[in-house]
Parts: sequence; structure tokens; C-alpha cells
Amino acid sequence: MEKKNAWEKYQGNKKDKVFAFAQDYKTFISTCKTERECVTELIAQAKEAGFKDLKQVIEKGKKIKEGSKLYVQNMGKVLILFVMGKKPLTAGVNFLGAHVDSPRLDIKQNPLYEDSELALLDTHYYGGVKKYQWVTLPLALHGVVVKKDGTVIPITIGEKEEDPVFGITDLLIHLSAEQLEKKAAKVIEGESLDILVGSLPGFPSEKEKEKAKDTVKANVLQLLKEQYNIEEDDFLSAEIEAVPAGAARDFGFDRSMVTGYGHDDRVCAYSSFAAILEAGVCDKTSACILVDKEEIGSVGATGMDSKFFEYAMAELLEATEGFSQIAFNRMMSASNMISSDVSAAYDPLYPAVMEKKNTAYLGKGFVFNKYTGRKGKGMSNDANPEFIALIRKIMDKHEVSFQTAELGKVDAGGGGTIASEMAKYNMQVIDGGVAVLNMHAPWEIISKVDLYEAKRGYVAFLKEA
Ligand code: MN
Ligand code: MN
Repeated sequence: MEKKNAWEKYQGNKKDKVFAFAQDYKTFISTCKTERECVTELIAQAKEAGFKDLKQVIEKGKKIKEGSKLYVQNMGKVLILFVMGKKPLTAGVNFLGAHVDSPRLDIKQNPLYEDSELALLDTHYYGGVKKYQWVTLPLALHGVVVKKDGTVIPITIGEKEEDPVFGITDLLIHLSAEQLEKKAAKVIEGESLDILVGSLPGFPSEKEKEKAKDTVKANVLQLLKEQYNIEEDDFLSAEIEAVPAGAARDFGFDRSMVTGYGHDDRVCAYSSFAAILEAGVCDKTSACILVDKEEIGSVGATGMDSKFFEYAMAELLEATEGFSQIAFNRMMSASNMISSDVSAAYDPLYPAVMEKKNTAYLGKGFVFNKYTGRKGKGMSNDANPEFIALIRKIMDKHEVSFQTAELGKVDAGGGGTIASEMAKYNMQVIDGGVAVLNMHAPWEIISKVDLYEAKRGYVAFLKEA
């Protein structure tokens, strides 16, 4: 079952629309590098497209009807969008669900220290990272600092041309004889991922010189105070993420690919978001869930396992057909979902971990994973063949290029998505998204045509499932 290369459909200037969509996506991931930044930006875009805050709609007692466009957000890190369909909610909802958190280095609560007249920030990595990939790279700091009075100070340093950047040093090759003997997992240890942020000593007055120590750190704190009104204690209530600095870029002579930070899973988040905007009013209600904390197990109030999702669905049901547990159960059981998440792309440099017939390839379109998981499909959502048959029918009808894949060879490793969190509501769920090369590396690679086909696939699903 050889799958055709999706570019075949977009020869000549037909590829312009594929490139144009990728351009918008590049802009999005170049500026939105944290879950908060993604949610803030997409709420702004949703409002522009006519979406209204469900909470306010309910408070004002406004009527929700066919075609109503609504959104709910949670703690600034989760966004759910709805386009009300022609049928009642109890006929089921078609869900798309992606995550907007990505692997990175989080700044610790008590991070700043000075050693040998260098100032450093201590970090704790978030999600699955190969630690050795995060050294000697320009890093930017994105996040928020919350003052005791509740003031939220947004931080973005390292993205503008004139901004400074930060980074983690590595040992020079000349003295690395012992380091290079270590296993890759140990070459760079978690506690060594400290970010160099300063080397300029403050100059204490003659009077204070005697007792002055750590003047480089003091100088950094002075600058933070002046520029951001941040004191050292304020790091306690901050959420600052160190991420690769710089914009997403075209990749390859032919510009067919995009390299950027956080394709996992913003490539599916962005295309799912674009799809719900494009699909318009469908038979069933459409929903697009953009959630946090997938990379650390979908935990916490802003992860897919949170009750927040249930609360939001209950609110919507109450505001339309009226909530009852039975109606809620019926709505969920009649629902379908594409868990929009990335897949591992076949890499010719690492053929040993892939089984070629059941692998995703760059350029072959939208990827469906019947299951992910580990070992004997452990912890996976194993999609039902009845549902997959429906998906095949829809994709073929809309001429969406799609492929099916597993996450590597049997027993080569594994991973999970939000699929199983959703399947527990007794809905039909399958994983579907975009293939990524060097996933979870600071700079990941996707194909523009896969991004485009994923968006088309999501639209087709919302219209037809
Ligand atoms: Mn993912
Ligand atoms: Mn991931």
C-alpha cells in the first residue's frame, strides 16, 4: 500500500496556497512559544473571527443557537472553541484536540546565583528532552512574573534583533576526553542545564566595597528591577520558560519544509484552529481543544485529565438543551474525536527504529495513528476499525492525502497523547496529525504539504463525521 507524495497534487502555482498557509503558521510559532502565548494569540484571532466568551454569553443570558461561535479558556493555558451545529449536542460533538505546551527548560523558583563572577539561572527541564541538544544554543526567555499584588508582568527577551539572548555552555572539545566516554543521557546532566545570564560586576561604592559580594548577580537584579520591576523574591511566583531564540524558517533549497521550535504540537494546534474557523457551521457541533501539560502526562488543572473539560461541556449543555447526567452521557458517547498530535517522521539516517510499511513519511500527508503507547500497546487508545473506516471514507471523499503509522518499531520505545483522556468519555477517538523530524529537539522539522493536508483533513472531519 504505497502512498503517493502529497506534493503531486500541488504542482506549479498550486503550491502557492500550501506555502501561504505555512507562512501564517511560521508567524504563529515564531511569536507563540509558551502555552499562555498560544492561548492569548488564538483568543485574539478567534474574537476577530466572531467567537464570544461562553461565560459572558451565559452571564448575559444570550441565546446560543445554530452557528453560534463560542470559546472558553482556563487559567490562560487552555482554550476550547465551539461552532454550534445544526443538530443538538446530544447528537454528539466532533472534537479536534491538540496541545500547546512543548518541551523546554523552566526557570526554577530560586534560580539566580553567581559563580566565578558569572551569573546563572538554574532550570528544571519540562517534558522529554535529550539534554545534550540544549547547550550552546541561543535561548530566549518567555513567561510571566506575578507580583504579590497580583500584577502579571509578561516577559519576552531574546526574540527581537536588538534583544540579548541567553544560553547554556558546554565543555570545550580539548578537555572533553572524559565527558565523551559518558552515555548520551549523562553527557549533559539535568542539573548542568543552567543558563548564563551575566558577567558584568556592579560597582559598589568605596564604602560598601568591603562587604559587597556577588556583584554580577546584584547587577543582574538591578537591571531586572529597573527594566521589569522584578525583585529576586518574585521568581517564586514566576513561570519563565527558556526556549530556542529566533523565528521559524523555511528549510531546504526548495523551501518545502519548516524548521521551528514547538512543532509538537503547535503544528496540529494551529491547523486544528484554522480548521474550525474554515469549516463553518456543520451538522454536528464542532469543537477545537487546545490544552496544556500533554508533555508531562496531561496532568494538572490545565491538562486534558482536568475536570475543566467536563465542566465546560456541562456549561454548554446547560445553556442549550439543559444539563442532565443522561444528556451529558449521550452527548459524549455520540461524539468523535481526532486527537491532533504529531507523529515521528521516517528519518533515513535512523532506519533501525522504524518499520517502513507502518511509518509516517514527510510529504505523504495527514498521519493517522490507530494506537501509540509502549510495548504491547500499553497505555494507548486503540481506535476502533468502524471509526477508522469512517475516517477513510471522509478523507477519500475530500481527496486528503493521508497515511497511517505507528510510533516506531515494536518495542523501540513509545509515547502517548491526549487520546486516552478523551476516549474515557466513551467517544470514538483516533490520533491524527503531522509527521515531524527530530521531534522534541530544540528545532524540529515538518513538511509544508503535511501541515496543509492536516488542516484539510481536520476540516473534512468536522464537516462529515
Ligand atoms: Mn505531542
Ligand atoms: Mn511531545
